[in-house]
Amino acid sequence: MGASRRARAPRRPRGAAPPAPARRGAGPATGLAFACLGSSGAVPTAARDTTALIVRAGRTMCLVDVGGSPVQKLRRVGVDPVGLTAVVVTHTHPDHVYGLPALVQCLLILGRTAPLPIYCHVEHVALVGKLLGLFGLLDEGLKVPILPVAPREGVRVLATADLVVTASPNAHGSMPNLAVRLDTRDRSLVYSSDTRPCAEVERLARGATVLVHEATFARPNPAEWHSTAREAGTIARAAGVGRLYLAHVGYTAHGALGAHVAASRAGFGGTVAMAEELRWYRV
Ligand SMILES: [Zn+2]
Repeated sequence: MGASRRARAPRRPRGAAPPAPARRGAGPATGLAFACLGSSGAVPTAARDTTALIVRAGRTMCLVDVGGSPVQKLRRVGVDPVGLTAVVVTHTHPDHVYGLPALVQCLLILGRTAPLPIYCHVEHVALVGKLLGLFGLLDEGLKVPILPVAPREGVRVLATADLVVTASPNAHGSMPNLAVRLDTRDRSLVYSSDTRPCAEVERLARGATVLVHEATFARPNPAEWHSTAREAGTIARAAGVGRLYLAHVGYTAHGALGAHVAASRAGFGGTVAMAEELRWYRV
């Protein structure tokens, strides 16, 4: 942390209201946008499910992490699951990957024939394969290539005509994990995934239009490899991002989200909001 700030996207003035979320539904037809299919930490509550993001840029539709009932969630934000471009699994804690077999099974039933590439940390290729193999989903007619991502800062994950996806390793204890950056020509979105505040995420997020950072705890918890709301704000500040959304918020903080956002804003000094689920945000 503590790296110098560079020239970057214009920032909203201090204390300005968070940008209004885009309407529900299919989201903007062009430009970079995302919707959280969930925003909780590992344990969901009645109001918030485990964290996953759908990111849209032009015709590209990239699902980052796969929580429960992915097809229903995608449909609720107006995305045809059959048209997914790719899936990125940041790591293999259950809350980030447990919906993957259900997604693949649904796509088979729905008649998808185009291969669905699944990108994950090189150390997780075997486990993701085992997870799909457990349900007999690897040789059912839909190709699901599981493609390794090397744990190198800024490593290229995939590129389409609309979107370039890169990643960096973060700091999630003994669990190898990837933070992800998604760039269009003029916009950028970074998702920290689960991590303690770390220089790798700060560097990946430098100058990003939007950072979605995990904020599992309200108070520091040295036993856990997660971030507090304030620490999420500190990383956003050091990276000089345009605005910050909090996700992966632990269930113990769900009853006090106002304080969570305020703590993060104190760390950032810029625009912070809780990521609301099933809403499109323009980046
Ligand atoms: Zn998690």
